[in-house]
Amino acid sequence: MRIDLHCHSTASDGTDTPAELVRNAAAAGLDVVALTDHDSTRGYAEAIAALPSGLTLVTGAELSCRVDGISMHMLAYLFDPDEPALLAERELVRDDRVPRARGMVARLNELGVPVTWEQVARIAGEGSVGRPHVATALVELGVVPTVSDAFTQDWLSDGGRAYVEKHETDPFEAIRLVKAAGGVTVFAHPAASKRGRTVPESAIAELAAAGLDGIEVDHMDHDDDTRARLRGLAADLGLLVTGSSDYHGSRKTCVLGEYTTDPEVYGEITRRATGAFPVPGTGGA
Ligand code: AMP
Ligand code: ZN
Ligand code: FE
Ligand code: FE
Repeated sequence: MRIDLHCHSTASDGTDTPAELVRNAAAAGLDVVALTDHDSTRGYAEAIAALPSGLTLVTGAELSCRVDGISMHMLAYLFDPDEPALLAERELVRDDRVPRARGMVARLNELGVPVTWEQVARIAGEGSVGRPHVATALVELGVVPTVSDAFTQDWLSDGGRAYVEKHETDPFEAIRLVKAAGGVTVFAHPAASKRGRTVPESAIAELAAAGLDGIEVDHMDHDDDTRARLRGLAADLGLLVTGSSDYHGSRKTCVLGEYTTDPEVYGEITRRATGAFPVPGTGGA
């Protein structure tokens, strides 16, 4: 069983449509794929409609959170997408991404970069707009050679010259909301230090005590030593350990199934969830 529990589509900042994502997941030999767009569940219907037989879809989202001034991402799985409180919080974060992206365009204009909101909006399309879309505009304009080159202090990384904060949820509140919607929470790439400041182990312990289910350990942004440390921490705290690609289509270099989750851990996630069931593929459109 090959299980990849963290993938993005055009419903946020991935480049595959939800239908392309599930087809590519099947072609990559995956048995289970999770759709975890940033602060959005809008890709679910298209992914389910296109789901090839032999592939199971885990519905989810990656929630933008912040604790003690540090941004972090919380993966949420198999929650009820219609549960009103969590839905309202997702919409609050997603809607605030628009004025925030406009703010980053304004900062870039002040820095002499002729990017426009229309350009960023075209790149983002229907997806919840984020820094990777702004970064793609900078690539189009020849300001930086690749999307990841835009994530520096000169441009878009946390605290960078053109960085603007967005509303982000308190992770303790996110855990409470996801649980109330029947879902399971996994702290995404908790030690991805190249993205900015990371939360200390003491905060992970507090999140575990508040009901966090697991941490993502096998991820491209964690080196071997970091993974070993996180595995030990998970064992100490009784947390599940996951692995996943954090696939973004052509916007990042990672490939589907680059890292995977143990089938027993996947089984435990599905047992804990009560808000939604994994969707078995029926052939697709
Ligand atoms: P946002 O949610 O708009 O603040 O953008 C965060 C997203 O930017 C993350 O989910 C990543 O996909 C991407 N990102 C953050 N840091 C980097 C980086 N150093 N290189 C490439 N992409 C990054
Ligand atoms: Zn992303
Ligand atoms: Fe993330
Ligand atoms: Fe992600």
